[in-house]
Amino acid sequence: MKDLFDYCEFGDLKLNSRIVRTGLWESEREKSGNMTPEIYNRYENIAASGVGLIITELYSLYPRDVFSKYSSTTNYRQFVREAKDLTDLVHVYDVPIFAQLGLVQYNKKTEQNIPVDDVSIEDIRKIQTDMIMAAQKFDYAGFDGIQLGLGNYYFLSRFINPNFNSREDRYGGSTLNRLKFVLEIIKVIKETTKLHVNCRLNAFDGTTNGMTLDETIEVAKILEKYGADSLQITRPRSPQFFTRENKDKNPLIEATEKIIRNVEIPVILGGGAATQNQINNILNETDIEFISMQRPFVADPSFLVEWQIEGNGETKCKTCNNCYWKKTSTCFINRAPKWDVESTISKEK
Ligand code: SF4
Repeated sequence: MKDLFDYCEFGDLKLNSRIVRTGLWESEREKSGNMTPEIYNRYENIAASGVGLIITELYSLYPRDVFSKYSSTTNYRQFVREAKDLTDLVHVYDVPIFAQLGLVQYNKKTEQNIPVDDVSIEDIRKIQTDMIMAAQKFDYAGFDGIQLGLGNYYFLSRFINPNFNSREDRYGGSTLNRLKFVLEIIKVIKETTKLHVNCRLNAFDGTTNGMTLDETIEVAKILEKYGADSLQITRPRSPQFFTRENKDKNPLIEATEKIIRNVEIPVILGGGAATQNQINNILNETDIEFISMQRPFVADPSFLVEWQIEGNGETKCKTCNNCYWKKTSTCFINRAPKWDVESTISKEK
């Protein structure tokens, strides 16, 4: 029997549990971009809680990217020193930590959200170079891996999607061609850093001429062949996900299982479970081995400590989605999170 608190392997990494914490927005930074004690405290509480793997809040590739007001960037002088303090803190608890890197929109001077088909070869080289440089900074800063955002309709997810990419050069056409942009980035990251490379993918998008699950499976196989070490499958904004006849069956679980059966690398189910029993049922009724959670950690960074003690835990997140829409890393309902690591540890005892 699998249990969410199993000590387990994730590729070449060892995890203290099957729970992956994924971050979204970072609202507690200083305006300069610098880290604050609140961020370090939050990460220490998460690391001490029994989590298996931490994926940071989004690092925007460019300060002018659309979510830059809410997201971290690597573009300030003390980045490597501050991030090294963060990774050292998390590693005290034997928890690996990945940096999540995303480009939401590609903007250039006055041109905003440049369509995939209008991005020049020079632009492609610039984005690739900047992503590789960000990865090298993450490596210097002690991160164990990088998560490349190929899902959630970020720029790279649109680039690999036939609904957005009708280029006629070597970066358009077949699935492999649309992936070359990403594969070239992965190749250099693997050659120049020690980072584990995780790719976050939509299961499918449900749009006309868009990504089907069959094509996502093809994408997953190509990513594995060209160096990706693991995948995270995320929930697309597709009506197909909410109008299925069998509402008891979570289609993201079905899609993730199909992807798992086609690759050898670890695959993370992107959320969707709110209780300990639900997670253990998913683990034992399917081939899924790893489950990511985001908002439960926003509601209470230490909730896994209680789950370990109680055995039938339930998230404090009420799924109001305010933290998502307001782009914050703090909860609007549970406004007094337990930042204090000392109290967490004494409770664990
Ligand atoms: S703000 Fe709402 S969605 Fe976000 S963690 Fe709190 S209860 Fe959950």
